[in-house]
Amino acid sequence: MSRLKENYLYSRVFIPEFLSFGLIIILITLILSDSFIKFFIILALIIIFFIRLIDSVGRKRKTQIRIIQKAIDDIRNNMFSSPDEIKLGKQLFELESDIKSMFLKTQNDIANLKKLEQVRTEFLGNVSHELRTPIFAIQGYLETLLEGAIDDNRVNKIFLSKAFHHTNNLNNLLHDLIDISMIESGQMRMSFRYFNMKDFIDPIVQDFALLAEEKHIGMILHEIRPKLEVFGDKTRIKQVLTNLISNAIKYTEQGKVEIMVLDEGKFCRIIVRDSGIGISEKDLGRIFERFYRVDKDRSRSVGGTGLGLAIVKHIIEAHNSRIDVKSSPGLGSEFSFLLKK
Ligand code: ADP
Repeated sequence: MSRLKENYLYSRVFIPEFLSFGLIIILITLILSDSFIKFFIILALIIIFFIRLIDSVGRKRKTQIRIIQKAIDDIRNNMFSSPDEIKLGKQLFELESDIKSMFLKTQNDIANLKKLEQVRTEFLGNVSHELRTPIFAIQGYLETLLEGAIDDNRVNKIFLSKAFHHTNNLNNLLHDLIDISMIESGQMRMSFRYFNMKDFIDPIVQDFALLAEEKHIGMILHEIRPKLEVFGDKTRIKQVLTNLISNAIKYTEQGKVEIMVLDEGKFCRIIVRDSGIGISEKDLGRIFERFYRVDKDRSRSVGGTGLGLAIVKHIIEAHNSRIDVKSSPGLGSEFSFLLKK
């Protein structure tokens, strides 16, 4: 294709403007010129001028389109590592900044997708591992029983109760997995209303009294103002307290577990404090991650799934609040959160 024809194709979009402008000039020349010869000479000059104009406009447009095409190709072929490497020149400045922000957004989207994919893979790995542990244990006990231990009165009940303990762990895990997937996929419906704190908390603490007694741990529920009403999802807050109190008992060998509700302006703070093993500074930042446990074996032996605090954090955040924790290894831990009054 000749260069002129190519430039013509690029300047085609302006043809209607060229034609109307050209026609006006021809008409004016026709009116003003006193002889046909003069008119044809001027007409020839106008045609040459317009051919040059079309050629020059087409050339400029072609250059700009090529620059844009190259930038797009380079982006597609991952030639840029940062948006600052994209250069379209002064005349295409606005487009350049649009392409740069598009590039940045795509880069961020890809990074987020990769992170999500990694989190998903890690989560699946963790779930399979967590499932495998109790299933292998149950299989092992049942196999030993089938191979004859069932008739050995010294061990048969022990093995059965151990297998039963692991089925409980499996059940806990399944429930927590259902909860966490409902929460994280946004399917957990919350139902917020006002409820009386004292009426709400009394039976929850009562439910744990026996467990604490068995471990010889004191269970103290401090006085709550009888008329105190708080705003939240009762069922989910019950789940939070159940988790925090059961953790407090699980990770305390001696001393006490205290539950307090304190007024803090328009809010009230619910505190679960224990005198248990405590959590070191380095673990404190991670205990709310899914499947993070300070001591895996200890957590499993007391029926922990490693998901409890992740669920607690989600629920409290859904109440526009935050779960706070203070702890000293060997001295105990204190978990607390605010609820609107
Ligand atoms: P788990 O089911 O293992 O208890 P959680 O998500 O409830 O999982 O807690 C995560 C980890 O945080 C626990 O494994 C334990 O190491 C630590 N933890 C939680 N609560 C306490 C507590 N009250 N005292 C000491 N450690 C705790």
